[in-house]
Amino acid sequence: MDTQNGCCSSRANFATFRDRDFGAGRAMRIILRKLSVVFLASFLVLAAARTSYAQPRKTLTQLSTIGALVRGVYDGEMTIQQLKRYGNTGLGTFNAVDGEMIMLDGTAYQVRSDGSVRIAKPGEETPSAEVTFFQANLEKPLPRSTGMKELTEQIDALLPTRNLIYVLKIEGIFKEVTARSVPRQHKPYELLTEIVKSQPIFKFRDVKGTVVGIRCPAFMEGINVPGYHLHFLTADRRSGGHVLDISVSHAVVMIDAISDFHMILPRDQEFYKANLEENMSGEVKTVESEKK
Ligand SMILES: [Zn+2]
Repeated sequence: MDTQNGCCSSRANFATFRDRDFGAGRAMRIILRKLSVVFLASFLVLAAARTSYAQPRKTLTQLSTIGALVRGVYDGEMTIQQLKRYGNTGLGTFNAVDGEMIMLDGTAYQVRSDGSVRIAKPGEETPSAEVTFFQANLEKPLPRSTGMKELTEQIDALLPTRNLIYVLKIEGIFKEVTARSVPRQHKPYELLTEIVKSQPIFKFRDVKGTVVGIRCPAFMEGINVPGYHLHFLTADRRSGGHVLDISVSHAVVMIDAISDFHMILPRDQEFYKANLEENMSGEVKTVESEKK
């Protein structure tokens, strides 16, 4: 009896266990069904989100850092041909800071210190540049503006967040543009803060042209220029420069929101020895916006 009981109770236990197992299986199926509903709902929500942000991830590729440029790392590290592998639109300078670079529609224009513009040859080198393959997420007409501050506030109002990188193009007629370039340097190099004290400045009035700009978040200080960095090229491609001040008469802004950042650091002794451990925000401000 004991054995039978033992046997039967054991069987009963087994049956109970199997029943429980079936019960658990049913519960599991219900959970899975519920989960699949949740997954489907999440997918639909994500799909909807992707519809409003339907762009693929975009990358800004940057050669060197603003800190290195400010500290005199001016020797070319990459050819224009190599730079173009990373983008068709952007900003930069040339070997020995020989002028301002504005990359527009795959062409690298060099604005020299005499104000003239030429197309850079594929083998010429750059110590510092930033480019992307431009594809605007947003295109908007801009109202009239007086001065850089007003213009950048108008563009800021169009951005979904201050924490992404933006590459932008502004095309149209500008009431006034104040631009500069820098003269080619010779070794031993002077610091950029010194060079800009005697930078040539060009003023344009009622001029048609294109601005290529980059807006970096404040947290990129030391790596890039926090806020706006704009270069200008006239519609006839004969003059331009690094923008110090600008007023829009009638223009359209095209904005490309960028979430990925690719940094290429120089591999030369000048960069290795440069002291880049201090806060250089004051020097960067002088170099980028000095109007003397
Ligand atoms: Zn510049």
